[in-house]
Amino acid sequence: MNLDQWVDDLFEAQTTFLSSLVATKSTRGLEETAQKMMHEAMQKDAQQVDVLPIELNNISHLRGFSPATVSYDGMFNRIGHYGNQTGKGRSLIFNGHIDVVPEGPLAGWSVDPYGGEVKQGKLYGRGSSDMKAGLVASLYALRAIHAAGMQPDAPVYLQSVVEEECTGNGALACLAAGYQADAVIIGEPFNEVLVTEQLGVIWFQIKLKGLPVHAEQATAGVNAIEAMLPVIAAYRQLEEKWNAQKHSHAAYAKHSHPINLNVAQFNAGDWTSSVPSWAVLNLRIAMYPGDDLSARQTEIAAVLQQLEKDNDLVGRAQPELSYHGFLAEGYRLPRHTDAEKVLAAAHQLVFNDSLKKGPITATTDARFYGLYQQTPTLVYGPKGQGYHGFDEYVELASLRNITKVYARFIENWCGLTPRSQ
Ligand SMILES: [Zn+2]
Repeated sequence: MNLDQWVDDLFEAQTTFLSSLVATKSTRGLEETAQKMMHEAMQKDAQQVDVLPIELNNISHLRGFSPATVSYDGMFNRIGHYGNQTGKGRSLIFNGHIDVVPEGPLAGWSVDPYGGEVKQGKLYGRGSSDMKAGLVASLYALRAIHAAGMQPDAPVYLQSVVEEECTGNGALACLAAGYQADAVIIGEPFNEVLVTEQLGVIWFQIKLKGLPVHAEQATAGVNAIEAMLPVIAAYRQLEEKWNAQKHSHAAYAKHSHPINLNVAQFNAGDWTSSVPSWAVLNLRIAMYPGDDLSARQTEIAAVLQQLEKDNDLVGRAQPELSYHGFLAEGYRLPRHTDAEKVLAAAHQLVFNDSLKKGPITATTDARFYGLYQQTPTLVYGPKGQGYHGFDEYVELASLRNITKVYARFIENWCGLTPRSQ
């Protein structure tokens, strides 16, 4: 059998494993059960599986670190070692994140978000496309090669990481531990399209203090919720200012709205008849590849400083700015690398169509390998819908083909050699 046939042969098992992995909720803080499943699955063919803790002492001084607001105790990356360690081929890292974002209100779903249900060729559930499918595709591409009695003729690492959806500190811990290769593949679900550029992302938090009084004399108080309204409006203006700069960034010049401010989470007030004494707002904004992160942070701070002077209500609410997650730079894939050529050839053979390429307006862990290890990082994964929304799914036919592309990529990038046993 050729590699395609081995992928086909294993695809039912691949789907079953993906379904059980999706059914294992792995939102932040709950990753470990799913990580143990990845560990066991890798152990079947890998020479070794590392358990890597996320230790702040090892990463907080590094470029690319994002502030951590939770404890990383009990959170571990899992890294499978595959391939011929003394082989003649080029080495490879598959990176994928096990963490998923919250599912939101169940009423919005037509299926159980943790059911792992398959209907009409789609596998549903939170994390199905983003990105357990891509993670499992890399696992089964390696399994197909193993089943064929072969191994990659170079070291291949499969990294199942935590913390992608909030900081990237999981991938950063892998860098700090010294894992390195000649190319990286990340199976994020961008519709079988190779990602050429990704934006940076900043998470920031605004805290306002109110002056609580009884609602009967509300005009004597300071309403922390109402004081947030001009703050949101001011950041909307910053968003439009940054969007207007798209013409300096060729990849995004034709995009209608590349920079998105997300007014994301709001908590405030204690009682319906008390003027709210506090309000906390979490926001997310993007920035372009090549942008200076600290310069963008200075702009974010300046908006609040100006508003504090110009707006009496905001001034009285004593605004405070902090960063509670992503301080992520953008990344641009270098053009015409050998890695891209090998991927394009593999894609052409499997899909009988040329590889499409394009920029995305989100971020991925690609930035770590691309910017801080100068390793070409191919973000390329299956078709899916609904990530970070309701009724998330991955298309199984697409997943099967992507798995074949990964297997062929390994064959041509690393080379294959018979397994000794
Ligand atoms: Zn993702």
